Amino acid sequence: MQTEKFDVVIAGAGLAGLTLAMEMAARPFFRQLKILLIDREEKIKNDRTWCFWAKDEEPIPPVTHKTWNNCRFFSHSAEIPMRITPYRYHMVRGIDFYRYAHERISQHTGIQRLIAPVTSIEAHTGIVHTTRGSFQGNYVFNSALTSLPLLPPADTHFPEPPLSRISDAPKDPHYTWMLQHFKGWVIETPEPVFDADTATFMDYRIDQKGETRFMYVLPLTTRRALVEFTVFSSALCPAEEYDEEIRNYLYKHLNIKHFSIEETEFGVIPMSDFPAKSIADGRVISIGTVGGFVKPSSGYAFKRTQRKMKAFVDAWEKTGTPASEIFSSQTGFRMLDSIMLRVLRDHLVPGDVLFSQLFRKLDAPHVFRFLDEDATFAEVLRLVMAPPTLPFLKAAGRQAANWVRGYGV
Ligand SMILES: Cc1cc2nc3c(=O)[nH]c(=O)nc-3n(C[C@H](O)[C@H](O)[C@H](O)COP(=O)(O)OP(=O)(O)OC[C@H]3O[C@@H](n4cnc5c(N)ncnc54)[C@H](O)[C@@H]3O)c2cc1C
Repeated sequence: MQTEKFDVVIAGAGLAGLTLAMEMAARPFFRQLKILLIDREEKIKNDRTWCFWAKDEEPIPPVTHKTWNNCRFFSHSAEIPMRITPYRYHMVRGIDFYRYAHERISQHTGIQRLIAPVTSIEAHTGIVHTTRGSFQGNYVFNSALTSLPLLPPADTHFPEPPLSRISDAPKDPHYTWMLQHFKGWVIETPEPVFDADTATFMDYRIDQKGETRFMYVLPLTTRRALVEFTVFSSALCPAEEYDEEIRNYLYKHLNIKHFSIEETEFGVIPMSDFPAKSIADGRVISIGTVGGFVKPSSGYAFKRTQRKMKAFVDAWEKTGTPASEIFSSQTGFRMLDSIMLRVLRDHLVPGDVLFSQLFRKLDAPHVFRFLDEDATFAEVLRLVMAPPTLPFLKAAGRQAANWVRGYGV
């Protein structure tokens, strides 16, 4: 069978693949190109919600479902005042984003869509094999397949990992491999109980069980909210534990006894310092989670994906060549992420203490600027001094040997 040729093949049409396709579709420079966008799914389900902070002048997709002007933060013993101005906290529903992206992309006649599982990608030829044929790209952008142990294997509790793992390579012990895993219920209450303009960013008033565990509450109206139990750890919890934690929290801390569950969400996000910069291989450029777009120390990726893709496509339009280096974070931020992960993994500072100290000593916009990698050198220094310094030095010491050997940065 003949292999059809394309200028660009995008394998994986989730957040990263669709954002790339939209950025290209918006620029006349790419109008002549023949582009193929492949996903195993049609993307017509609301499979996740994305939240992120942004200033009003920052571009955000026009399909925002909800915006909060205020956020709250609870340490294990008290509320810590959290003022997020000039940022606001936003929610985009997966289904709205997918519909919006498909509509924008359909205006570019050069972009074709294919619904089929990708089975393998040949890096040097750029041939992408699917169950419905093989397609060759001058450039291939991959957010679907990974050879890294970023997520746990599929099981009854986690039936559909969002990425396809194509090798059984074990975890390289030079890197930190943690998971952010969470379950959320969208609940509805008979009486108004929520402040619809205030999101609970982190609530650490729950048993930590030797891990980093917090609740996250996103009120959609005064009677409806997404209530999520989140854990940073190396392995998933037993399935029933997520539900028990949400139920206990509703009873104990929100005093909600009567409610109905309207929707549920379960997710796992890798928190790892694996070296994404080396994943441009032959004609293949890794993007999204596979390409290291998830901020290792927070698990946030939505805004980073929008920003990285815009910068990348802008530069491609200007120079005529795609340069994957644009996707890399600065070395200093990567080192800080790997130190923070090491602190959390090795329990050098309990996560609830670490995040509570950060939000007690620094204002929220300062922490947001750091997580967005917009912080100045002076701001980074102040942030590094905010949590207990000794454990951070210890973690840096443990990482230093890796950095000298070229691992982890
Ligand atoms: C439930 C959930 C909630 C999240 N919430 C937030 C949040 O609030 N804020 C935030 O900043 N980040 C959040 N994240 C993290 C991150 O933003 C998302 O995971 C984001 O979708 C990652 O983008 P991506 O393109 O790498 O992956 P995805 O959006 O998952 O896209 C990967 C695509 O590859 C496709 N695919 C996989 N295997 C194959 C195959 N073999 N063949 C063809 N296609 C394939 C999948 O169908 C999917 O469409 C969340 C993640 C999850 C899982």
